[in-house]
Amino acid sequence: MTLAAPLRTETKPQDLGLRCIACDATLAPTLVYRCPDCGGILEVVRQKPESRGWLRADFVADDITLGEGGTPLRELRSDLLHAGFKGRLLVKDETRNPSGSFKDRLVAASLSRAIALGATGIVSASSGNAGAAAACYAANAGIPAIIVCPDATPRGKLAQIAAYGAGLEQVPGHYGNSFEHAKRLCAETGYANLTATYLNPYGVDALRLVGQELHEQMGRIVPDWIAIPTSSGPLVKGVFQGFMDRAGEVPRLIAAQSEGCAPIARAFKDGKIDVAGWENPNTIASGISDPLQAYPEEGSLTLSLVRASKGVAYAVGDERIREAMIDLARKAGLFCEPTAAASLAAARDLFMNGTIGSTDTVVCIVTGHGFKDFAAHEGVGHSIHRGSRPL
Ligand SMILES: [Zn+2]
Repeated sequence: MTLAAPLRTETKPQDLGLRCIACDATLAPTLVYRCPDCGGILEVVRQKPESRGWLRADFVADDITLGEGGTPLRELRSDLLHAGFKGRLLVKDETRNPSGSFKDRLVAASLSRAIALGATGIVSASSGNAGAAAACYAANAGIPAIIVCPDATPRGKLAQIAAYGAGLEQVPGHYGNSFEHAKRLCAETGYANLTATYLNPYGVDALRLVGQELHEQMGRIVPDWIAIPTSSGPLVKGVFQGFMDRAGEVPRLIAAQSEGCAPIARAFKDGKIDVAGWENPNTIASGISDPLQAYPEEGSLTLSLVRASKGVAYAVGDERIREAMIDLARKAGLFCEPTAAASLAAARDLFMNGTIGSTDTVVCIVTGHGFKDFAAHEGVGHSIHRGSRPL
């Protein structure tokens, strides 16, 4: 009797080696975070299935997944971009993930690999969302988690991390200090580092599903633009790779940063190849307030992908982010945190300055839930109501 071939034979977990994007060295799959030869960023080497696209199960173990991904793509009124815009405006609603942000996709995959490779606990340096995701998934997996956050992390995110039972350490100063502290904790404890920059290649690898999903949900049309709130930029890489996997071409990518922390947008504007760290991050968009001081090469990688897509890295002001956040809630029923609205805010500016055309198709990725940063919404009702007409 001949049995049908099992569904997933194209890629075996043991095949998932690593490659250094700087020196092309290859490594066996292991818990390693940078190239031992040159310190370069590592990426997963993964053979694309011939017969189909990727499935969540190609990245995430059955006992780890909490149903992340597969988030809705919604068409909004075009005038939410601008009254003069006549094209299509869509949002990819990543607030729908189990802990309320796209980081769940990344953590589910990196935790699956960490446990498969023998990890007994995890550490994550986070501006909040990745830490909440790591705490959430570690709780379900029954392993200890230590989350390291900057002092200024929004209280909603801290409460969420604590609620999942993770150890929480707060470190003074910007995110880079938390990043270094997490590395020390990993060395002391032997735990896996699930920090959701480019540090964990298995997490970043899973974000290609975002690009793949968008391509499918668009009816296999490549939109003109995809705007992405951008810190170090793994989501930019994920969208880029996902479209390359499925369409062989990539939309023009907008890496949206805040004017208060814009290392990638500054390098883009100055025509530079290498991103330099930002000095004093100061923005309401806490999820994209990483100054990249300790690892500016991550910003350079993201910038190279933005340029390869013929896209734009753009810094938008906090007031514009705030306006977009309020409009998403009031005019689209989408309650998000400031960081998540940076995509729409940037797209609005880029329409007004003529970069985005009036009949283009624009997708904005909305990365994190409004429950995570109540302070950003407090007082909004009063201040807006006074000057606005009833809706
Ligand atoms: Zn290398």
